Amino acid sequence: MKHVTHWIGGKPWTGGQAEHHGDIYNPATGQVSGTVDFAGPAEVAAAVQAAAGAFAAWRATSLVKRTAVLFAFRELLRARQADIAALISAEHGKVASDAAGEVARGLEVVEFACGIPHLLKGGFSENVSSGVDAYSIRQPLGVVAGITPFNFPAMVPMWMFPIAIACGNAFVLKPSEKDPSASVLLAELLAEAGLPDGVFNVVHGSKPAVDAVLAHPDVRAVSFVGSTPVARYVWQTGSAAGKRVQALGGAKNHMVVLPDADLDLAADAAVSAGFGSAGERCMAISVLVAVDPAGDELVAKIAERVARLRVGPGTDERAEMGPLVTAAHRDKVAGYLDSGVRKGAVLAVDGRGHPVTGGAAEGFWLGPSVLDHVTPPMSCYADEIFGPVLSVVRVPTYDDALGVVNANPYGNGTAIFTNDGGAARRFTSEVEVGMVGINVPIPVPMAFYSFGGWKSSLFGDTHVHGTEGVHFYTRGKAVTSRWLDPSHGGVNLGFPVNG
Ligand code: NAD
Repeated sequence: MKHVTHWIGGKPWTGGQAEHHGDIYNPATGQVSGTVDFAGPAEVAAAVQAAAGAFAAWRATSLVKRTAVLFAFRELLRARQADIAALISAEHGKVASDAAGEVARGLEVVEFACGIPHLLKGGFSENVSSGVDAYSIRQPLGVVAGITPFNFPAMVPMWMFPIAIACGNAFVLKPSEKDPSASVLLAELLAEAGLPDGVFNVVHGSKPAVDAVLAHPDVRAVSFVGSTPVARYVWQTGSAAGKRVQALGGAKNHMVVLPDADLDLAADAAVSAGFGSAGERCMAISVLVAVDPAGDELVAKIAERVARLRVGPGTDERAEMGPLVTAAHRDKVAGYLDSGVRKGAVLAVDGRGHPVTGGAAEGFWLGPSVLDHVTPPMSCYADEIFGPVLSVVRVPTYDDALGVVNANPYGNGTAIFTNDGGAARRFTSEVEVGMVGINVPIPVPMAFYSFGGWKSSLFGDTHVHGTEGVHFYTRGKAVTSRWLDPSHGGVNLGFPVNG
């Protein structure tokens, strides 16, 4: 049985027994594989103190030296990619290739952060007034925190800390208590890369740990990724405490298929994006909006592909879809199949009968399901299911499809499948969603663009990583400078005007 504890001041926490613990499960076996210590205000205060103590020296460390640490971290991440993926797979349940994919996408943000000397360049204007120059600089905030969800235990923290640290901040991470081990390995690799003690800290736990982070006066900014109710709470509580907050929430991502689309391509995409990671992705396609007359053929093609999916444990290299994260979540997801049917949807594929290859009977399994003829008032449409259930909504026209997407309270990702460039262009312009794919089902932006949704998928103004990430973790300062020359004009109490 493993025991996971906090990482504070460059080493595992030795400050005493935790009052509360959580169990860590292996979702493929259903067994407890370890325990994780839960932080309260004392442990959070220790982590913030370590970060605050490290900040001044880290901020004063040259850009070249900070970047050198990030380059070394990148190499270590590449070397240990399989180990990180194995840890993720064992605690989250996602299959090994998917876990390796999330590490690779996190690595791209580290590579982006390696370019921080360029990203932090300010502007300079010579002679804005006679003998006066003006310039802008961006400076770190101090201690910043990240609170992250279970579904990407490595990638989502890496959306945040590489940029925050590169900008000169010190970081406190509160990862999901369901799969805490990857974050500790990342901390060890940062230390091995030469990051000074205290610049990166990890505290584990649940709501009390989050509340302690939100209440701590020395935490200047909070990045949150998780479900919408908690995102809203973190944004409101953190903002009320005077912190800068970006809080990314849940999603209901629609894939619109126009009748002129290549339906084989669309069916492949719907199955990949609907059931990859067992649907536990914030960018998963959970609703297929089929514009008449595409529906029948599309659902038939999807059902055919779903039947062939290999469901099994992450330790099986050929497994395409793993279990769900907990038994309770599996049961909740399965409940939507019954409630959908009760409300008039048609269960085109029932994943409860799907074979599981090589998994223990006690694992948290649920095969892929397709609910057809779903309508927006049904709870299987309205709620974020976050599992392997693809709902199909059928509509007569493009305008109806757009209306369905735009009426949804979430606005994280969406996709349109069509061969009509004009329709795709119109959709891109008209849809009220933050990230759009054209014949691409999971349009996760590259690290040098920013990731974030609209409406109830994001609270706050700033998306993560890319230029917006750099802006989130820095404050701008405008400097006006004059070096005296013989022409200076003496005392003048008027408001400074330029001439
Ligand atoms: P969650 O909201 O339950 O937990 C997220 C974090 O908040 C965890 O660290 C958790 O410990 C903490 N937390 C949980 N309940 C809390 C409470 N009541 N008060 C304070 N903190 C609390 O989310 P999850 O189940 O871990 O992750 C899945 C959710 O995350 C889905 O809704 C998914 O769409 C969303 N998500 C969104 C994005 C995005 O980019 N928008 C990315 C990944 C996941």
